Amino acid sequence: MYDMVISGGRVIDPAQGVDGIANIGISKGRIVTSGEGLKEEDAAQVIAAQGKIVVPGLIDFHAHVYDVVTSLGLAPDRIGINAGVTTVVDAGSAGSDTFPGLPRFVLPQNKTSVFCFLHICRTGLCHLPEMRDWNDIDYEATVAMVQAYPDLIKGIKVRVVEPVMWNMGLELIKLSKRIAKEVALPLMVHVGDPKGVEGRSLTKELLPLLDSGDILSHCFTCKPGRVLQPDGSLMPEFREAVERGVVLDIARGNNGLSFDVAQQMLEQGILPDTISTDLAALNINGTVYSLLHTISAFLALGLSLNQVIEMTTTNPANAMKEGHRLGSLKDGMPANVSVLEMGEGDWEFRDSENQPLEVKLLLKPVVTVKDGVPFLASPAGTG
Ligand SMILES: [Zn+2]
Repeated sequence: MYDMVISGGRVIDPAQGVDGIANIGISKGRIVTSGEGLKEEDAAQVIAAQGKIVVPGLIDFHAHVYDVVTSLGLAPDRIGINAGVTTVVDAGSAGSDTFPGLPRFVLPQNKTSVFCFLHICRTGLCHLPEMRDWNDIDYEATVAMVQAYPDLIKGIKVRVVEPVMWNMGLELIKLSKRIAKEVALPLMVHVGDPKGVEGRSLTKELLPLLDSGDILSHCFTCKPGRVLQPDGSLMPEFREAVERGVVLDIARGNNGLSFDVAQQMLEQGILPDTISTDLAALNINGTVYSLLHTISAFLALGLSLNQVIEMTTTNPANAMKEGHRLGSLKDGMPANVSVLEMGEGDWEFRDSENQPLEVKLLLKPVVTVKDGVPFLASPAGTG
């Protein structure tokens, strides 16, 4: 007897190379089996998924969920289980001075799983720009905070933006890298500065410092600091970084994704590893809306359904070394499942430059199963 069977949907699980009609069985919060032989009669609860798409619980690899304490934070469930997403990664909203409030005050009120990148700035993103000089970093406290929360903190975050970029220069990245190495976690680097000066950027110099597993955020930005050069070619240092295994993260946000840059880079064979939103209070009502909205943009840009699901399930799980329990529907894994439907119509999306993108297919959340418990998508989560 199963607690639940999700029946008859098109199951896509890139980690297992699965794409076909199947039933998913769930018992005691875990996936117990999947396949055609699984019967609805064997289940206490049935989710009829005929005509729907059934995928591992989606992971938004870059968002901001330090609700209330940071003005840009959103409640995890608002962009998580209410919107077809079971895991959200907070990309540096908290630093060593402010981190403990997140697990104490925010996470207990939400059911969505949250992992974090700890900002190198001691106060995280309480105010912007967050850093001015070295006094804003506490090396020992940052290392100690990572060690105190090993189950939550999956990496270190730094943003290469004015004015800190020119006050501290490459030394800031070197210090961030030193901390990341000391705690044996990846470094996530934000590039692209809307307030930056054209032609003045540290990106070329910092890329060689990134190792396999480190993360380049906003990889398809068109802002100063971008990797696409004015003549349309890619920085050689960027190509080398990709070959080394640096993780390319979309982090759409207000300034992180230009459809034109995306098109040019995709044409040159550059695929993102993770599609993420950079959702925050300042972009949830436009132009970002939700993870499924951002995924739909990439379908319109030419990626396949299997590719975009891989970039929002197994790839972000592996980037956090959580692939053993996240991002797949393998037998025995925690039962995190996103049931989606594909809408057809005519939509026009806008990017950070207010450039339009014609969209014909729009993914929408139907039911989100988190650790075996089903949640209906809320209208606010459908974007
Ligand atoms: Zn961000």
